[in-house]
Amino acid sequence: AEGWGAGAGGSSHPATPSPQSPAARSDRADPARASDDDEERADRGLMERAVVRVVTPGTVVEPALLNDRQNSYLVAAIVEGNRAGLAYVDVTTGEFAACQIDERSGQEALQRELARLAPVEVLVPGPDHRRRRDPRGGDGDDPLSLPVAARLSPYDAWHFDLETARDALHQHFEVEALDGFGCQGLPLAIRAAGAVLQYVSETQPAARLQLTSLRTYSTAAMMTLDPATRRNLELTRTARGNTEKGSLLWVLDRTQTAMGGRLLRTWINQPLLDLAKLQARQQAVAEFVEDALRRRLAMELLAKVPDLERLINRVGQRIATPRDLLALAAGLRRVGELRGALAGDDLAPEARIAWLAQRLDPVEGASELVGQAIVPDPPTTFAEGGVIRPGFSSELDQLKESSRHAREWIASLETTERERTGIRNLKVGYNRVFGYYLEVSNANRAMVPAHYIRKQTLVGAERYITPDLKEYESIVLNAQEKIAELETAIFRQVGEQIAASGERIRATAQASALVDVFAALAEVAVRQGYVRPSLDEGTRLEIHGGRHPVVECARPEEAFVANDVSLATDSTQIVLLTGPNMAGKSTYLRMTALIVLMAQIGSFVPAREATIGLVDRIFTRIGAQDDLSAGQSTFLLEMLETAHLLSQGTPRSLLILDEVGRGTSTYDGMAIAQAVIEYVHNHPKLGARTLFATHYHELTELEHVLPRVRNYRMDVLEEGDRVVFLHRVVPGGADRSYGIHVARLAGIPRAVTRRAEEILRDLEQGKRGRAGRRTGRGEPADGVTQLALFAELHPVVEEVRHLDVLALSPLEALTKLFELQERAREKGAAF
Ligand code: ADP
Repeated sequence: AEGWGAGAGGSSHPATPSPQSPAARSDRADPARASDDDEERADRGLMERAVVRVVTPGTVVEPALLNDRQNSYLVAAIVEGNRAGLAYVDVTTGEFAACQIDERSGQEALQRELARLAPVEVLVPGPDHRRRRDPRGGDGDDPLSLPVAARLSPYDAWHFDLETARDALHQHFEVEALDGFGCQGLPLAIRAAGAVLQYVSETQPAARLQLTSLRTYSTAAMMTLDPATRRNLELTRTARGNTEKGSLLWVLDRTQTAMGGRLLRTWINQPLLDLAKLQARQQAVAEFVEDALRRRLAMELLAKVPDLERLINRVGQRIATPRDLLALAAGLRRVGELRGALAGDDLAPEARIAWLAQRLDPVEGASELVGQAIVPDPPTTFAEGGVIRPGFSSELDQLKESSRHAREWIASLETTERERTGIRNLKVGYNRVFGYYLEVSNANRAMVPAHYIRKQTLVGAERYITPDLKEYESIVLNAQEKIAELETAIFRQVGEQIAASGERIRATAQASALVDVFAALAEVAVRQGYVRPSLDEGTRLEIHGGRHPVVECARPEEAFVANDVSLATDSTQIVLLTGPNMAGKSTYLRMTALIVLMAQIGSFVPAREATIGLVDRIFTRIGAQDDLSAGQSTFLLEMLETAHLLSQGTPRSLLILDEVGRGTSTYDGMAIAQAVIEYVHNHPKLGARTLFATHYHELTELEHVLPRVRNYRMDVLEEGDRVVFLHRVVPGGADRSYGIHVARLAGIPRAVTRRAEEILRDLEQGKRGRAGRRTGRGEPADGVTQLALFAELHPVVEEVRHLDVLALSPLEALTKLFELQERAREKGAAF
């Protein structure tokens, strides 16, 4: 136990009164004390017991158990039909927010929120022990599966009842209505918020004090990212190694403080759709890019700013130690310097840096108070005294002075009494029964002064006390305890005073985090040569000289080949990118998604120039080959995901489809790929900007039939039988897959690749025989286009030709597809 009033052998903790330890007392009072522990234990008495805290993953506040660059979220989630409610708390920072999800598929939106927040613990309505109505769970709520590794804690369902939850919130915030928090009319948000509040109150009562307000938010203001897309884009962790190194966060995180680190992570996980907000962020980054001196200075000062947010939270929870207060005060002084370094007459009044500087309130009163009250290097417990600075409390100073005086008086007693009485071997001693005594051997008994009071007779000596000795003794014995008590009380008072400035300090912490993130984004922008993208609400996407932010950093020794991207809903809606494996298709697709995402957190981007019409949602679909371990057939999984994805896009979405259809046989795969492209192209509501990468070069035919499809390919250089990948995206379609070349690159034995070349030659000749009249053009027929290529390959195609794809629901499409596949297999011989 550390913190106010705690400490080994210290005085009582506010919540866990523990008796004063006599051992500790006599230990210090007398160097020559007899040790007689059994005797001491007897007067300890009963310890008062109460549960002061239940430790769960979501309520941990111990710095050693926390990742300081990551929020520690405790979430409560409730699902009702299509709707869902979610609330989260970070007990280490006091953040408390709630939202209600009213989307068509609330479950899924909830999963997305969970993936974004990556909570450590999730509360869900559990068996109702109080009402015992449904032993299995809440009121028929669907069970929740978590997209993240968090502890799922069932919490009695009645906590989620609207009335109970609302009452809890009313009581906590001391309000009559929740209008001020923006959650009126959002019953599921209220139920989740009330539940999480009750849980915190039960497990971590002190933390409840820190939840000073509730923010209601809407997921509609954020870019939608499903859990798979987060993984695919490797925003904060790599997909394979699950390490931060190699993620986007790893590239961008040049923040100096833990607060800034947490904020940047939050931003990366939550790109915005609000143009004005984004432009304000860009402006701040731009100013730091241009003003290298201020940026450097800010970063240097920030490096010395501790985690003010968690520190003030500890103060508010009454668990701060003297060292925490010192760190807080030192941090606030740094913030004062930072404010000075940022502000200046040279800044335009509308400069974002000036705006930020204004928000860096150093709360001088707080740091001064700590400086006056607490010694620079305090002991870790209060038991010894010495935490409070001399001069801060005259009561304490007097107490210490009289204790010191009494101690000195006893220490010199032997000498003074020997001189006074002439008894040369007079001794001052201490025992547990009588306390301090004067001991005179029998030989000198006659010389003992009259005022000595005899206390004990030993074999060769007598022991005495005097009234003075007893008085000083009691001062010495009680002083230690009193000093510890008084220091604790003073410290607590100081803490209360600092806690009273909690809101101001919290605001300062948030402003420091902002400065930190802006300076960091500017630093990366300068070092990596990023530009400020131009943002608008249109549906274009133009990138000139774009680079993949992570690949270029991960392999600085290899020059990264910059590429352009040009998409627009009404002209180049779909880019069909072909090229051999390993040519750089995936890198190009991810680069585009990451540049958009970076732009929508307010960052500069790795490009020469970029214009980005804000994207409401990034979908990624990456060929399912690696998902075998999930247990579902990759084909089924892929179809489910793709169908689902296609049903949710809007003209402002960005689709990143990489090797869709790879999870099955070639013709199946190609058919799926083509169907998907047609759907995206022809769907009247979809119209999403799309990058589609495939090694099925046959699909390039689609450019001729679908007006908004453009072919691009990865440029390769052929030198004899060698292929060099140039990683350059150029107009036009690839005409073959080079798969065998790649196999050779990968070290497959020469004999195997040579044989494969033979087979390929045979196959290609055979195919040309069958599909010789490839027209390259087909007419769109009731929204479905058909390529001659497939028409001649299989009778099942006949049926596909007449299928009204747009009239099918994703599930019907899937069922149909299975049926078609079955039939295709039956007639497999025809192939
Ligand atoms: P594909 O998706 O076509 O199979 P990848 O995108 O996986 O190919 O890229 C293959 C390799 O080429 C990767 O190791 C990647 O680092 C490298 N690469 C891709 N694009 C570029 C580029 N523009 N400049 C330099 N190296 C690149």
